[in-house]
Amino acid sequence: MARPATVEIDLAAARHNLARVRELAPRSEVLAIVKANAYGHGLTRMAGALDDADAFGVACIEEAGVLRAAGCKHRLLLLEGPFTASELADVRELDLDLVIHNADQIAMLEGAPPGACFRTWLKIDTGMHRLGFAPADVSGVHARLRALACTESEIVLMTHFANAHAPEDAMNRAQLDHFNAVRAELGEFAMNDALSAANSGATLAMPEAHFDWVRPGLMLYGISPFPERSGREDGLEPVMTVRSELISVRTIDKGETVGYGAHWRCPEAMPVGVAALGYGDGYPRAASGAPVLVKGTRTQVIGMPSMDMVTVDLRGVEAPKVGDDVVFWGGALPVEEVARHCGTIPYELVSGVRARARHVEVNGAGLR
Ligand SMILES: *Cc1c(COP(=O)(O)O)cnc(C)c1O
Repeated sequence: MARPATVEIDLAAARHNLARVRELAPRSEVLAIVKANAYGHGLTRMAGALDDADAFGVACIEEAGVLRAAGCKHRLLLLEGPFTASELADVRELDLDLVIHNADQIAMLEGAPPGACFRTWLKIDTGMHRLGFAPADVSGVHARLRALACTESEIVLMTHFANAHAPEDAMNRAQLDHFNAVRAELGEFAMNDALSAANSGATLAMPEAHFDWVRPGLMLYGISPFPERSGREDGLEPVMTVRSELISVRTIDKGETVGYGAHWRCPEAMPVGVAALGYGDGYPRAASGAPVLVKGTRTQVIGMPSMDMVTVDLRGVEAPKVGDDVVFWGGALPVEEVARHCGTIPYELVSGVRARARHVEVNGAGLR
């Protein structure tokens, strides 16, 4: 039998989540974010499941190339734009939209051979201070982009929220005000421009930020961007289930320790299971003590997860035996809860899942 570590991807759940985005933002087009191997869910598989989206957002040419090679015809946006001028030939070949966030990228476009036509998304830094042009520089940059014979007349003005996962935070309103002010200042020069601001948090909680394009990522995978919630509470269905099986069940004596570092000491003689999954699969060491489901019964990881294996407490599990199902997250165990236990965010857990664990699709198929 093959190693039982499995990442199950529910494509019907993904389609449901996209429909939920449409319901929340009925007047907006949807740029589905599939960077980082679709947050660990599998790039081409998710693009297939989400083919009702209007466009896809990726982080690099390589990801865009994979989608085109799989037959994807959607508009594809490079979220950080080109990294070097040498990429522009591929950008044309693959027919990609570009985020333009700094002056070097404008210079790249200005130096591109004539005849090229680029669709650009002009990124404005309204307060996150990661990528983008300061509001004061936007009118000059916008004029430079318009002057390029190689850009289409429609530019998408975009910005990104730092705190959309905290809807009450005053920073959201401030960023939105800056964005609207930039748009107003451009006046008739931005008449043809579309606007885009909302990630998952703003798609769910800030309808006034939906504009022409919403850019959901996390929520398409059925996960809530809000720290104290889970996707189901926001009307989403979790897409990923990480599971494996018990490969050993033994009784360990009272006072004995379990695993590397001897971090767990048995308070009584107790059944201890070993499941085939570890940090080599992307299940973090910080998950020591995290909840797991064994045959659907909630219990906990004991000791430290190792590279290929995790030890679990089987007290309370009815007649445990080798081959029993162990769920690490997904289904009745929200990844949001596991992430809180690990002191991280669900984005990091799902995007960290490795290809080493077997991926299986349920309820549909990806691009072929
Ligand atoms: C990743 C990303 C998103 C999606 O964010 P979520 O919080 O996953 O919805 C949206 N816009 C940009 C520019 C991004 O880089």
